[in-house]
Amino acid sequence: MEILYRSTRSNAVASASQAILKGLSEDGGLFVPEKIPALDKTLQELSTMTYQEVAYEVMKLFLTDFTEEELKNCIANAYDSKFDTEVIAPLAEAGGAYYLELFHGKTIAFKDMALSILPHLMITSAKKNHADKDIVILTATSGDTGKAALAGFADVPGTKIIVFYPKNGVSPIQEKQMVTQKGDNTLVVGIHGNFDDAQTGVKKLFSDKDLEKEMADKGYQFSSANSINIGRLVPQIVYYVYAYAQLLAEGKIAAGEKINAAVPTGNFGNILAAFYAKNMGLPINKLICASNENKVLYDFFSTGEYDRNRDFVLTSSPSMDILISSNLERLIYRIAGDNPEKTEALMKALSGEGKYEITSEMKEKLDDFYGNFAKEEEAFGKIKALYEDTGYVIDTHTAVASAVYDKYKASTGDKDTLTVIASTASPFKFARSVMQAVDPKYGDAVWGDFELVDELSKLANVEVPEAVEEIRSASVRHTAICEKDGMKDVVRDFLKL
Ligand SMILES: *Cc1c(COP(=O)(O)O)cnc(C)c1O
Repeated sequence: MEILYRSTRSNAVASASQAILKGLSEDGGLFVPEKIPALDKTLQELSTMTYQEVAYEVMKLFLTDFTEEELKNCIANAYDSKFDTEVIAPLAEAGGAYYLELFHGKTIAFKDMALSILPHLMITSAKKNHADKDIVILTATSGDTGKAALAGFADVPGTKIIVFYPKNGVSPIQEKQMVTQKGDNTLVVGIHGNFDDAQTGVKKLFSDKDLEKEMADKGYQFSSANSINIGRLVPQIVYYVYAYAQLLAEGKIAAGEKINAAVPTGNFGNILAAFYAKNMGLPINKLICASNENKVLYDFFSTGEYDRNRDFVLTSSPSMDILISSNLERLIYRIAGDNPEKTEALMKALSGEGKYEITSEMKEKLDDFYGNFAKEEEAFGKIKALYEDTGYVIDTHTAVASAVYDKYKASTGDKDTLTVIASTASPFKFARSVMQAVDPKYGDAVWGDFELVDELSKLANVEVPEAVEEIRSASVRHTAICEKDGMKDVVRDFLKL
């Protein structure tokens, strides 16, 4: 059955490949599948499959205009030896929960799960639609998307990639990873502003008609590698299904038994993928939405009001320092009864007054979710306690989810449902904060970033990942910095418009 994609803000319709190529609908809306397909393999069948096989079974249901051969090629090219484990997304049991390690790809954060396949999906989509223009990927990053997208698109023929990141809003390792990126088709720019400024600027460029025309004349078209692209969302559904299948294969659960999924959330992409997995028929009880001190989502789930009018807090989980969670728009559309007018009105209020409130009827449809947040000291305390109890070291983002899971257990009394916590980054990527959490002495500025990496390796008894080794001595290739309102000029210069 063919699945079409509808804009959340109008009646615009696209095939899967068109939606992947465009990224965002012309009206500024996000593409959503017109219905969520049901899994057509049993959980038992899925439990005998490899990651790549599960990926095919899930993705074929959404990307219905891809042929079997096209999709299997994309999957084979993405989930290969770039990952440092054959199972791609292993589960680690520690402290009474299962950590789904989504950081075994090239840039050691969960963004690799989708961004290692997105370039292949995009090139295939371009061919299918006889697109004659080069694709320019324009991306705002809170740290991890940028590097994962750069790694995916570097030197891919027919593409260029431009990444904007908040100059003072990413970890030292994250920044070093990005500014050392090779590939003549890549550009990395720090902006004076926070992630929301970068994301808003990128959205503006996407809807700039003059720029679009100038680019078309030179043979370019924009697309997006941000999680607003359904080509990122769909591959993220896979690992929830795979995690369930693994738990079943290992006899940890019975077929049909419900599990919880706890997800450290920023742009609401990862947890939305879990929600889609649930709607495909995966037995999920609660979707535990974990925020850091930028707790706009927690407030939304508690009150029904989304309000971004507040101070932006820089935390030690920078990839979650977000006040405008773009993918929430897809959930809003859904609970508004797939109504584009209602969704557009709310999103207009968000960009105008910075807030909106949903109706009580809509709020009732949020029962699948439990929202809470963890303060800095709670996340740090969790890293330390888990390490001391089990020897297992988690990163600062994962720690937010783990701390929130503890709150969930305490407040609901649900202590028995097996819970999978999405572990979204390797602790090596945030070595400074992680080591400081374990022992405050590492907070001292005398410790260099790579010294801390080596200390962490000893402490956790885990080898330093290749992704970190390779930037130890890499030279900086990108030094550009711009103001919030200077982003358009940067793009025009790079493309020689
Ligand atoms: C991007 C990111 C998140 C947030 O994921 P969303 O899909 O934006 O909610 C959490 N943790 C890490 C390490 C990330 O890179």
